[in-house]
Amino acid sequence: MLLYDNDLLKALARVYSSDVGTLLKSLALPGSRYYLRVNMMKISPSVVIDRLRSRGVEVFRDEELEEAIYIPVKGPNNVVLRDKIIIVDKYAAESVYMGSHLYAPGVIRCSENIKRGDEVTVVAENGIAVGEGIAVMDCLEMIRKRKGLAVEISLPIYSVPPIRSLPEYLEGLVYPQSLPAMYATRVLDPKPGELVIDTCAAPGGKTGHIVELTKGRAQVLAFDHSEKRLKSMVEELERLGHTSFVEIWKVDSRYLHIDFSWVKADRVIVDPPCTALGVRPKLFDRKTYSDVLNAAAYQIQFLRSASKILKKGGVLVYSTCTVTAEENEDIVEKFLEEERCFETEPIKISRSSRGISSSRYGYAYVRFHPHIHDTPGYFIAKLVKIC
Ligand code: SAH
Repeated sequence: MLLYDNDLLKALARVYSSDVGTLLKSLALPGSRYYLRVNMMKISPSVVIDRLRSRGVEVFRDEELEEAIYIPVKGPNNVVLRDKIIIVDKYAAESVYMGSHLYAPGVIRCSENIKRGDEVTVVAENGIAVGEGIAVMDCLEMIRKRKGLAVEISLPIYSVPPIRSLPEYLEGLVYPQSLPAMYATRVLDPKPGELVIDTCAAPGGKTGHIVELTKGRAQVLAFDHSEKRLKSMVEELERLGHTSFVEIWKVDSRYLHIDFSWVKADRVIVDPPCTALGVRPKLFDRKTYSDVLNAAAYQIQFLRSASKILKKGGVLVYSTCTVTAEENEDIVEKFLEEERCFETEPIKISRSSRGISSSRYGYAYVRFHPHIHDTPGYFIAKLVKIC
């Protein structure tokens, strides 16, 4: 159930014309592949595939990106509504929907007569049944304890194996990441010996990929303003074994040109906060066009600042996991009108579409569409500083 106001639907129609309905339907579903990035500083894709297969995980190599492997998503299963139900919050509902067990903090309320061992149905706040399972706690305990496993899910709507509890994950051999997000760092194309900056870095998906593509031989600066997200970034980089290759700073990246005015980077990636309309699956979401405009006003500030800490000849990549033109093509074009020293550089990714711009820049942008490319909705632009 996606509650978007009329103006937001109009903004989507600007990009998708009569396909808005198809787009919205596909946003409610997961893609058919769950992607992992192989940490090639620790292991080769073929060895990690053998290890995962020996655990019964069905996993394949991506056809194009060497570091990408994927697990086919199973489902949808037919989940029945039993008498005993547990209502859960959005985060828990989306996790159970994809095959996770249910943990007590996600429980909002439950049928009072639920006892440990009962068969129950887990239901999202909007009434969608997301999984069936066996209660591991009484209802009262779930509400009072607020921690621990509450329901062992036996039949979710969709399922992927519990990657985060496998040794291959714990040893830092893989990082769950969508295919378009991997392409964003590939488009940045960092090289050993360069100074590479990630301005909105936490939890470090792209930073980790930069380290791997340069085999730890680039100088990598990662910025983010969120203490909490930086904490999980440090944990992620530790798991991957990358901490010594990255310098992390807690800063407001809209002012890098002031705080780091002496820096002249070879490459900068700006992956700013966005309305995340391309992220899937979404069980429910509520957004308005003014959310889009607010995000856009924020996003351009990161580009402006990033442009000033880039050296002549340097590369600037802008990426988002959202689908409105206001947060994507429009931002880049506004920036290009202000900054005479930047030009777009065409990106070639066969499994993607062009940006929607009708201007001379249009060919340079790349979009991934959920209903066409079976990925999250995603945007990537590549700019070069020419003076
Ligand atoms: N690039 C990351 C995801 C980034 S999401 C990855 O691939 O894993 C956007 C990030 O921007 C969030 O972590 C958020 O904390 C950060 N952010 C938002 N406003 C910011 C600001 N003013 N300065 C620095 N970081 C900011």
